Amino acid sequence: MSNPHKNSIKQLNKVAKLLEPSYKDKKRFKAAIKMLQTPQNFFETELEVRMDNGKTNKFKAYRSQHNNARGPFKGGIRFHQNVSADEVKALSTWMTWKCAVTGIPYGGGKGGVIVNPRELSEGELQRLSRAYAAFLSDKIGPWVDIPAPDVNTNGQIMAWMVDELENTVSLDRRASENLAATFTGKPIMIGGSQGRDEATGLGGVFILEKLAKELGYDRKRDITIAIQGFGNVGYWFAHHADQLGYKVVAVSGSKGGIYVEDGLDPEQTMECKKKKGGLETCLCVDGKCNVSNGKSITNEELLELDVDILVPSALENVINKDNAGKIKAKAIIEMANGPITPEADEILKKNKVLVIPDVLANAGGVTVSYFEWAQNLQGYYWTRDEVVAKLQPLMDKAFDSMWEMLKKHKTTGRMATYMNAVKSVIDAMMLRGRV
Ligand code: NAD
Repeated sequence: MSNPHKNSIKQLNKVAKLLEPSYKDKKRFKAAIKMLQTPQNFFETELEVRMDNGKTNKFKAYRSQHNNARGPFKGGIRFHQNVSADEVKALSTWMTWKCAVTGIPYGGGKGGVIVNPRELSEGELQRLSRAYAAFLSDKIGPWVDIPAPDVNTNGQIMAWMVDELENTVSLDRRASENLAATFTGKPIMIGGSQGRDEATGLGGVFILEKLAKELGYDRKRDITIAIQGFGNVGYWFAHHADQLGYKVVAVSGSKGGIYVEDGLDPEQTMECKKKKGGLETCLCVDGKCNVSNGKSITNEELLELDVDILVPSALENVINKDNAGKIKAKAIIEMANGPITPEADEILKKNKVLVIPDVLANAGGVTVSYFEWAQNLQGYYWTRDEVVAKLQPLMDKAFDSMWEMLKKHKTTGRMATYMNAVKSVIDAMMLRGRV
């Protein structure tokens, strides 16, 4: 198994080689790269949680604060049995780049607890969430470190954590800070933002719009799209792409997917999936679902379809050395985190498949988290349309910067995105005199 933290360092060193010529002071540049290889702060503990049977169980927990040169640390909390210190460190490094990509004023952080939350009752899950928030209470805050949901955590868990933080800290802190702004991804009732649910998928569609123009397509309906995954991100990507006139021809879930040559109807497909518990028979066109509209396909088949744009929106490492050579799409928009392995990346580059990397494509989510924080701090809330109107220019600008770098250095979308992000973090470190 490859070590994610070592991979993130390797990736950083690769970017550094391309960036170094543009820095006059090589010593300061090298010092900055060295600092970025290790999180600024790393905390770990064992959380003690009372279980329903009266016994106390211990759960290993981490928080990594990678870099805050551009603003407070920002990044989700993961509850999963495979969480490790190295995974949390790598994810916090990637958050530093992701926040820099859209220019939001944050650095990178990430947290995790080694636990299978499906084995916990709701009461146990609440006690675990509260124990984690109490452990972090003197390490996080609206101007210090702002966690959010990640794998297996959600708005409910953020609500428990806000409550615990408020109960744990001193009256002075409660009186001077809006502690709810410490967490984003909260339910609307306690300060969440309108538009957060759809933000990641919608942000990806803004990227699709820019990409379609650069690739020189005339008519949106001529652009065929296959989406792996039909959860939060996949569904909203399909919905907005369809609304704008693109032709979504395939979507899939864990048990398989569907292909509809004339373009499927995302709303009806979702309705049908909810009713039937699976996608296989949900071949819906213009509001009508009929098996004669298309065919069922496997997840492997979906990835290898002859479409214009492939949108992996489910799991990591689904495009790897075994199938990368069979990808026929002209471009891939990485909506999931890490769907393409480094070996596959090399194969795609050779085959001239353009890849828009995850830190750019799915940055709509963290950008609307930033909007949630900004609304909490000003105590004034925006409508869904205001949120969308503020999201688009940030996604557009991030795409334009990537495209400019890609052309200038004749490099890949991933490298161009990382170059911009790492450069802006290093410049902030230099301005602050950290190196
Ligand atoms: P989700 O749980 O809502 O949806 C995941 C989807 O993947 C489901 O439709 C599920 O059926 C499908 N799936 C599971 N196993 C599959 C398989 N073997 N093959 C094909 N499909 C499979 O999750 P989500 O929030 O939509 O997140 C999807 C990806 O996007 C993850 O990588 C996540 O880290 C990333 N992401 C999400 C957000 C966000 O705001 N939700 C933000 C940034 C990145």
